[in-house]
Amino acid sequence: MDIFDKIISGEIPSYKVYEDNDVFAFLDISQVTPGHTLVVPKQHVSDIFAYDDDLAQKILLKLPLIAKAIKKSNPAITGMNIQSNNGQSAGQTVFHSHWHLIPRFDNDNLSSVLAPTIDNSENFSPDQYQKIATAIASQFE
Ligand code: 5GP
Repeated sequence: MDIFDKIISGEIPSYKVYEDNDVFAFLDISQVTPGHTLVVPKQHVSDIFAYDDDLAQKILLKLPLIAKAIKKSNPAITGMNIQSNNGQSAGQTVFHSHWHLIPRFDNDNLSSVLAPTIDNSENFSPDQYQKIATAIASQFE
């Protein structure tokens, strides 16, 4: 079991924003920007090279839904980078496929090549993580 399998099963706690039969979405601990979310297939696949058409349809179809909920959760969000690192040479560090949804804010001064080079976790308290996760999760209600 990798770390994301343990997050999906609840063995390791996370700030969940969305879950259905196919995907689990939760705040990335690094919060490159506030609301930075990971969308992870529940099925264990290491990277995009292991996707078949069926899995691609199930997972990729969810990205707009979750992206829209994140954007609606905070009016200051004006854009979003969606990134998936596949393979060590591409910067992948957790070998369970995942999609970074990284909200962008006017004048946030970030380059568009983002995760996982930035770690802002020391700037976020558990309360702050929970507040962000709840604001996103409530968009699905
Ligand atoms: P990768 O480098 O593989 O594209 O991204 C892995 C991401 O997983 C990193 O952005 C990192 O912050 C995040 N991450 C690693 N361990 C944990 C964890 O235990 N909890 C959460 N929420 N995120 C994690």
